[in-house]
Amino acid sequence: MGDIFDAGEVQKRLLQRHASSGTNHPTLPPLSAIHAAEASLFPRTNPSWHTQGLSDADVVAHILGDIVPALTGQAASSRYYGFVTGGVLPIAEWADNVVSRMDQNVQVHLPAQYVATTVEDTALEMLAGLLRLGAGGDEWKGRTFTTGATGSNVLGLACGREAVLAKKLGGEGSVGELGLLAACLRAGISEIQVLTSAGHSSLSKAASVVGIGRRCVKELRRSEDQPWRLDIDAVERELQRPGVASIIAVSAGDVNTGGFALDGVDEWTRVRDLADKYGSWIHVDGAFGIFARVLGLGDEYAPLKRRIEGIELADSITVDGHKILNVPYDCGMFYTRSASTLQSVFTNPNAAYLSSGSAASIPSPLNIGLENSRRFRALPVYAALLAEGYAGMERLVSNMVQLSRRVAAFLRDSPHYELLPDERAELDGIFMIVLFRAKDGALNDALVERINETRQMYVSGTAWRGEKAVRIAVSNWKVDVERDFEVVAAILNAVAAGEAFDIENIRK
Ligand SMILES: *Cc1c(COP(=O)(O)O)cnc(C)c1O
Repeated sequence: MGDIFDAGEVQKRLLQRHASSGTNHPTLPPLSAIHAAEASLFPRTNPSWHTQGLSDADVVAHILGDIVPALTGQAASSRYYGFVTGGVLPIAEWADNVVSRMDQNVQVHLPAQYVATTVEDTALEMLAGLLRLGAGGDEWKGRTFTTGATGSNVLGLACGREAVLAKKLGGEGSVGELGLLAACLRAGISEIQVLTSAGHSSLSKAASVVGIGRRCVKELRRSEDQPWRLDIDAVERELQRPGVASIIAVSAGDVNTGGFALDGVDEWTRVRDLADKYGSWIHVDGAFGIFARVLGLGDEYAPLKRRIEGIELADSITVDGHKILNVPYDCGMFYTRSASTLQSVFTNPNAAYLSSGSAASIPSPLNIGLENSRRFRALPVYAALLAEGYAGMERLVSNMVQLSRRVAAFLRDSPHYELLPDERAELDGIFMIVLFRAKDGALNDALVERINETRQMYVSGTAWRGEKAVRIAVSNWKVDVERDFEVVAAILNAVAAGEAFDIENIRK
């Protein structure tokens, strides 16, 4: 990109947003490029690199010549289907460069010094509007940017822990003040448990970080066929255990299958009623799944959207920015209806020099999240939302869904592949994750390698009911339903036939 403050230069790069994507951007670099890059790293080629600095020009040449060719094409290819990664909208990339150039530290709300904290709060309000979280996000006053969904899950469990113990303590102290051990002893609590179904691995990490413990994350699955569905009866039994405090962690988008823990307002209401009755906290991991809420009104999206109608009954929500929203790493968001709980955990006390000095309506970020000094992560989000609007975001997400469903139908009808978890299920339940395997056992064993060997499509391996499986997660803004489907189907056909795949044989 030319100078980021030169509007003409910027415009050229931004035009990519609406250019046709009929290009063959590699999805993965050649292995040889990765090996060459490893070998080129300076401490290896020149152990005395530190005695004298290189010229900036040499550093640039090294990075452009050696390192960049060894990075994935996930930002430029719509066929990087591993994990759930998203790409980068050009406008968000530009805004992120502005962030680096301006190097703002968004930690204290200083309205007479800069506008960054106000932009941050505004971006969170805009996103809440897009996700239909109450009117203008007003009910979600506790909100902040994080490093990603893992960071947000840490905040969610920390808030949950704070709130459930505060209830047991009846106003006599809190975990933030007393510490977990003293608070539990005083409240007569011997365990805090997290009740979930198909909880993301980062939920267990978060449980460890906040002192709950990985073992206290309990999988309450309604059935082995649908492990992502939360067994609400089992939740109620667990909530009744004496001497135990509980957080209910609802998976709104299981990363393995794309499944949702709850379905419909009635189920959400029942969970809310249970949480109120037993003094529990509901945290929703909606990292990518929450974006199903931006889909349009058509019948084809109704079953999907029904699964998260009721999310507004939760106490806290995790949202990822660097996935479906297609802003650069790293970026996540956290929302809670209890701003006071967030402050109670994360307040950064006794630092007079960090005071915003005003009775401001926007809290200083350092008092509502993990970090003190922070990147201005909000700006790319603000830019992306502004450029896309609700309609643009809806198209972005519906393209992902349409491609996923085309691929799912192909797999279902293919003699070589089996669509998982249930080939007979309606395709209108599919969001942007497609799980499958090869029917032939030997092919299935090597399927991930065979597909990724093409370097034109990248998938992650996983397991389904003890057997190897493959998942495709469609999350890039560049999705071109027709063309991407053509390439994916050609690759899967070639892999099944044991033939080499050449992207050059596909229409540009
Ligand atoms: C990706 C993901 C996470 C972890 O998010 P990071 O942004 O990688 O920290 C957590 N939960 C779900 C459901 C996810 O998809």
